[in-house]
Amino acid sequence: MFDKILIANRGEIALRVVRACREMGVKSVAVHSTADSDAMHVRMADEAICIGPPSSTQSYLSFPALISACEITGAQAIHPGYGFLSENAAFVQACEDHDITFIGPTAEHIRIMGDKISAKDTMKELGVPCVPGSDGGVPTLEDALKVGEDIGYPVIIKATAGGGGKGMKVAQNAGEMERAFQSARAEGKSNFGNDEVYIEKYLTTPRHIEIQVFGDGKGNAVHLGERDCSLQRRHQKVFEEAPGPSITPELRARIGKVCADAVARINYIGAGTIEFLFENDEFYFIEMNTRLQVEHPVTEGIFGVDLVREQLQVAAGMPMSFTQDDLKINGHAIEVRINAERLPNFAPCPGQITQYHAPGGLGVRMDSALYDGYRIPPYYDSLIGKLIVHGRDRPEALARLGRALGELIVDGVDTTIPLFHALLAEEDVQTGNYNIHWLEHWLEQNLA
Ligand code: ADP
Repeated sequence: MFDKILIANRGEIALRVVRACREMGVKSVAVHSTADSDAMHVRMADEAICIGPPSSTQSYLSFPALISACEITGAQAIHPGYGFLSENAAFVQACEDHDITFIGPTAEHIRIMGDKISAKDTMKELGVPCVPGSDGGVPTLEDALKVGEDIGYPVIIKATAGGGGKGMKVAQNAGEMERAFQSARAEGKSNFGNDEVYIEKYLTTPRHIEIQVFGDGKGNAVHLGERDCSLQRRHQKVFEEAPGPSITPELRARIGKVCADAVARINYIGAGTIEFLFENDEFYFIEMNTRLQVEHPVTEGIFGVDLVREQLQVAAGMPMSFTQDDLKINGHAIEVRINAERLPNFAPCPGQITQYHAPGGLGVRMDSALYDGYRIPPYYDSLIGKLIVHGRDRPEALARLGRALGELIVDGVDTTIPLFHALLAEEDVQTGNYNIHWLEHWLEQNLA
């Protein structure tokens, strides 16, 4: 095992990694920008080092700053968290060139899965079912119209380099194709520097179901069931649960095996998530994330395992601490994302926290880097915490979520907490009767 690792991230996820390190007896190094010198992850890690000014391109995304920080502190490995450099193949290469272990997959796997077209081709070859669509990239409008005709409308045009819900446009019919095609390309170009797009059938009532996989890099891999992340705003998740209310043990076993076998065959190492749309009992692959996900705690909740510990273990060349047979689902877990945002428009709302009180009690986990008096800087993501609850079954988890939300106090800034109080009062949320479009409709009717 490593003696010391560096955490190339901030906020709750940096703290999450510090916690795993502390339990494993591994020393942790926090990095921070000048805007984050008073951040919780800096206080909690064993060492901290300033790596640059507030702008993330000059700090959390700076290869030289991070590599030098490892050299100065003697850290042997880097945990990237999620976001920032977690899916950057060039960074993985830079780590390798400096004899630093990247705690995550290989540069090659990140490259393949980071490009949505090559990811889909690879998955198809590995026997994973995909959304019907274009055969690879679609270079011209004429090609796009032809694909639309072939697969039938509505269709979704997606930037191959897209992510975070950006670079996706829907065309309901041929008349809408030109605008959707051009704007998906333009968004791909401006956000990811790549205007290549491809086209998929747009599914009208799917759920978002993702399978957690884990590999040791030596041909062994397991799956840890699914998470249902269908409650989304602008293609971004706000509420996640496991197990999925619509997934039977048979469906889970079937798709789980397909996913575990696929990643085993490519010698995948570490945590990964294979995302699907799920409609009429069929799974359709959309993308793979080659990192730890924001919503990983719901999986940890129902399986009772520490995924960050496992990441460190396999990165250090050790085996995973479980086999597929060891992994048994226990109860139900739900996560809600607490963002510093002002409703109804979800405008970022940075500022000073005047009072913070975290909920507690049985089955409650609060992953947050907040504290009384903390000033949320305006430069980064608006996620300020994740409230995760675990119960023996879904109704108990929902009741616990309501109770815990009632205890949670975040004063001084606006947050998404009221949204979750309102959602819990909805019958569809109580019964699990929703698809990926449910929340957008609800927001239009209730918050507009
Ligand atoms: P990103 O990489 O930006 O997260 P994804 O490909 O993972 O993009 O898609 C994010 C979300 O967009 C999905 O969870 C779903 O809500 C919606 N989406 C993506 N592809 C389709 C599709 N073919 N039909 C309907 N909705 C889709």
